[in-house]
Amino acid sequence: MKVLVASSEAAPFAKTGGLADAVGCLMKGLRAGGVDARLVMPLYRSVRRNFPLKYTGTDIKVAVGGRKYASRVFSYEGRVCFVECGEFFDRQELYGTPAGDYGDNAHRFIFFSRAALEVCDALGFSPDIVHCHDWQTGLVPLYMKTAFRRHFAKTPSLFTIHNLGYQGLFPASAMPLTGLGSEYFTPERIEFYGQVNFLKAGIVAGSAISTVSMTYAREILTAEYGFGLDGVLRSRQKDLTGILNGIDHDEWDPEKDASINQNYRREDISGKKACKERLLKECGLKTKGPLLGAVGRLSAQKGVDVLLGSIDRIVSEGAGLVLLGKGDSAFEDALKAVSGRHKGKVFFKPGYDEAFAHRVYAGSDILLMPSRYEPCGLSQMIALRYGAVPVARRTGGLADTIEDYAHLKGRGTGFLFSDYTPGCLKESVKRALCIYADAGKWKRLVLEGMGKDFSWETSVEKYISLYESLLRRAKR
Ligand code: ADP
Repeated sequence: MKVLVASSEAAPFAKTGGLADAVGCLMKGLRAGGVDARLVMPLYRSVRRNFPLKYTGTDIKVAVGGRKYASRVFSYEGRVCFVECGEFFDRQELYGTPAGDYGDNAHRFIFFSRAALEVCDALGFSPDIVHCHDWQTGLVPLYMKTAFRRHFAKTPSLFTIHNLGYQGLFPASAMPLTGLGSEYFTPERIEFYGQVNFLKAGIVAGSAISTVSMTYAREILTAEYGFGLDGVLRSRQKDLTGILNGIDHDEWDPEKDASINQNYRREDISGKKACKERLLKECGLKTKGPLLGAVGRLSAQKGVDVLLGSIDRIVSEGAGLVLLGKGDSAFEDALKAVSGRHKGKVFFKPGYDEAFAHRVYAGSDILLMPSRYEPCGLSQMIALRYGAVPVARRTGGLADTIEDYAHLKGRGTGFLFSDYTPGCLKESVKRALCIYADAGKWKRLVLEGMGKDFSWETSVEKYISLYESLLRRAKR
């Protein structure tokens, strides 16, 4: 089976979040499963600098808004191809700077969506399935039925939503750039309250739609989680499935992790204590009790406001807190202020720091994830593997990967709460701290979480069987 995977980011090449991890692992898994999967991505400046790419000798021309952009195609080990367009992608960042998104993102990702299809013909790769990810490639399934129907009319597409909160919304003036006729600018198609919505294009035109957890697949059908697209999603409900992401077990393995000061494994977790001591020292924390960590983007989605509202109380319970995050500057300022107020008890590291993230997972007893919504979430799976017990909101992938601790049975892998309030987070932390006080119970809980399998194998099998069912359907 030949699969074209189109994504605006993928590990290890370019990453701003979980999308890159998911696509990187999916590619690895598909190839291990014998699928001829090729990934197409934009050629960002950082990729050109950091990876030894080879010019394929192939050039393509990509039409965007009445202009044809010449683009050279590069490859990495023959399985990933990068489409060049210096004007759009030779930049510091992927989507924008702290001041905001790049003003020409519509232009950039129309270019990329068309280039992803152009490249197949140019390289003589004719995929059985095209698998696209998030709004940046939302137009691809629609182009397969319109401008590129000559080659793709019979090819099924799978459109995966990694986060419905990011839709690729652009003013109506972006419509002519798409090359689609004005008949596509209707609420049934890609109009969204007067704007063009790239994500909606993928939902409307994809042969099937998937998202990254079973619970999120149900949640996005509701007004509360649907970001205005719940109606469109309900109309495609029979083609919508949830397939949980996994984590890269090679990258996230406390037994082999080179970023932590002492390795450990489920059979002998004594090294975790040394990791905690080192983390406390590194962060200048003087607390003797449990250490709570949090790693993530500082955005409203991640529940930073709820976290901020509960820090005083958590500290008063004698716990220490290590926070790592990059994002919204208002949240950064608020976290800096709180850590300043609780010197020696709360440490906040602003920015993106992978090695430090590894040390937080390894050194923490508890990982906080009070997300407002969470399509899948990787941090809680990583935490479980590193023996940090998650305290999280019961939503999306968090609900699918964490088993709430049942006090009577003494079973579970974490602590879940439902209401999005600081009070509920505090209650859950208190529940966790009660168990923490009983070393035997706590160890059982830690080991139960560490024993869970979040590898990609199961997810890849599900994707492959979804591809197969789409192929069967297309042949009928
Ligand atoms: P997202 O919504 O950002 O995709 P996920 O939980 O799915 O959230 O994935 C986040 C990934 O990015 C995890 O691997 C997490 O460890 C990592 N991460 C998030 N923020 C940071 C940061 N500031 N520094 C280092 N790693 C981070």
